[in-house]
Amino acid sequence: TQVIKPRIREILSKELPEELIKLLPKRWVKIGDVLLLPLRPELEPYKYKIAKAYAEVLEVKTVLRKGHIYGETRKPDYEILYGSDTITIHVENGIKYKLDVARIMFSPANVKERVRMAKVAKPNELVVDMFAGIGHLSLPIAVYGKARVIAIEKDPYTFKFLVENIHLNKVEDRMSAYNMDNRDFPGVDIADRILMGYVVRTHEFIPKALSIAKDEAIIHYHNTVPERLMPKEPFETFKRIAKEHGYEVEKLNELRIKRYAPGVWHVVLDLRVFKR
Ligand code: SAM
Repeated sequence: TQVIKPRIREILSKELPEELIKLLPKRWVKIGDVLLLPLRPELEPYKYKIAKAYAEVLEVKTVLRKGHIYGETRKPDYEILYGSDTITIHVENGIKYKLDVARIMFSPANVKERVRMAKVAKPNELVVDMFAGIGHLSLPIAVYGKARVIAIEKDPYTFKFLVENIHLNKVEDRMSAYNMDNRDFPGVDIADRILMGYVVRTHEFIPKALSIAKDEAIIHYHNTVPERLMPKEPFETFKRIAKEHGYEVEKLNELRIKRYAPGVWHVVLDLRVFKR
């Protein structure tokens, strides 16, 4: 939460009616030098002036109106209010993430998980990230865990940034990227650790994850789950599918990442899977 800067108020008090000043956004998300600004519908007629004032005071090159994230490749739907260049480098926890903020999701609510990933892996482990994005979760593993990482990303545009980020963070010696649907990934029985950083339909990918896993492996399994089914779900579903594929499962840890929708949580489970 940020405090609305007095300077923003000062600039806009000359442009907006008094009663709208109260509605100015008090929170925003800064990704590199691009700002995501949530705007109430009442502010629509003044949106460009508002964006300009925030851009000047918060020293960003571009302002996007915060919208929603859609579909299989998790594309955001943001309106440009100020500036035009939406590509930026965001530095978090010493990791450089280059991305196009208008077209690729980068959730501030997932920061804890990105930071946590820096500590989980050991050198020489083989980690497979099945939903790599721009390397959100797997760059920390390669940089700090010094593990070997295979990152799979289906969307060609997102993949381009994933490759750039591997170079920007100088982990080419241990991290490689595949532009494909993870269901077409040919590796079998290779991974010590698997990242499944996806939501809504992650369970559909459990059989593939188990085929990539060694006889014993750790899986960081993300999914969205209605609160009323917790904590039985999503573990029960994972366990049932794993059993059908000859694996036992032990739950090591379960964390809530964020509220995904009313009554629905995005959670991550650390699971040890092993062949009976
Ligand atoms: N794992 C990161 C995180 O949790 O912050 C990024 C998550 S992002 C929501 C999921 C990414 O998975 C998107 O970039 C999307 O394009 C990719 N994706 C979706 N389905 C896929 C599939 N079947 N194979 C490979 N990548 C896929």
